[in-house]
Amino acid sequence: MVLDDLGTSLRSSLDKLQGKTRLDEDDVEEIVKEIQRSLLSADVDVSLVMELSDSIETRALEEEPPGGTTARDHVLKIVYEEMVALVGDSTALPLEPQTILLAGLQGSGKTTSAAKMAWWFSTKGLRPAVIQTDTFRPGAYDQAEQMADRAEVDFYGDPDADDPVEIAREGMEATADADVRIVDTAGRHALEDDLIAEIEEIDEAVDPDRSLLVLDAAIGQGAKEQARQFEESIGIDGVVITKLDGTAKGGGALTAVNETGSSIAFLGSGETVQDIERFEPSGFISRLLG
Ligand code: GDP
Repeated sequence: MVLDDLGTSLRSSLDKLQGKTRLDEDDVEEIVKEIQRSLLSADVDVSLVMELSDSIETRALEEEPPGGTTARDHVLKIVYEEMVALVGDSTALPLEPQTILLAGLQGSGKTTSAAKMAWWFSTKGLRPAVIQTDTFRPGAYDQAEQMADRAEVDFYGDPDADDPVEIAREGMEATADADVRIVDTAGRHALEDDLIAEIEEIDEAVDPDRSLLVLDAAIGQGAKEQARQFEESIGIDGVVITKLDGTAKGGGALTAVNETGSSIAFLGSGETVQDIERFEPSGFISRLLG
């Protein structure tokens, strides 16, 4: 069984198919409705939900279950395949020297994620460094330094400097011994022109191998505009979803993935540096449908 953590209503709709070898339109309609309900309450964008349910419906009605497969297993397989196509595989992250730029709004979890990712790379035998360029948020420097310390990784920042681009440039030189540099940037409460201008300059100064957009799992429809703007300004290669230890299911991040043509790189689920894991589709899909 590919999905083992389905919501109870979806599971009971599927269980009604037990013993059947063919699906009729009413069966498919009921299952598709349950899936739509789960995904919408997980904050997945309405048009993505509609596209997905159309594909599931068409396939479930048109494709013959292979011999020996029950209707239930057949439809479950279709649901899983279509969900995988929607959420995608995790963002490719070669275990080699690289620079990663983090973008996102204030409070999305960038500083925390920078230290977590550095910790994650250190467990893979690489030498990471965090470069903190946030001169906007009071306390950002101290927080980043403390977290880098807890992650036992190199750290560069300058609490007395006020030019983030200069800090980024100096940070790249100061961390020359590191393999993986993770560049944390300032956020704002909303997307403002100066934020975009600043991150474009930092992007130019550090020339990252990949740029990741950090999004709070609770983000709903707001994900679209943010993703579009960051994609336009620096290009987004992947998304980090934070705060998955809360009640939000993170479906809003799929809007960002769709908007940027990217994928999900990491999932964050707590405030300590170890609370991070690489994205893996099946657990996330079960969560969205749960
Ligand atoms: P930034 O402004 O984007 O750098 O955001 P921070 O990294 O400072 O995070 C904002 C708040 O969210 C802080 O209080 C973090 O401790 C908290 N936070 C970040 N990631 C997570 C997470 O995965 N789970 C929980 N529960 N809190 C998180």
